[in-house]
Amino acid sequence: MAYRETHERNCPHCGERMSATAPKCLNCGRLVDEVDEDDSAINPRKVWLLAAVVAVVLVIMVVVIALT
Ligand SMILES: [Zn+2]
Repeated sequence: MAYRETHERNCPHCGERMSATAPKCLNCGRLVDEVDEDDSAINPRKVWLLAAVVAVVLVIMVVVIALT
C-alpha cells in the first residue's frame, strides 16, 4: 500500500492543491499564512475606532462649550 498524503488543502492564493504541512505553495510560491492585504477594503474595527474617537472629541467639545 502506497503512502498517501491525506492532509491536503487548497492554496488560498491560487487554489492549487498542496500539502497541509507545507508552509509555502509550490505552485505560486506564496506563503499560505500570508494574508491578502486589501487597502481599499475598510476594516469595520477601524470604522468603529474612528467613530469612537469622533464621539469622544465631540463630547469634549460640547462640555468645553457648555462650561465657557
Ligand atoms: Zn498557490
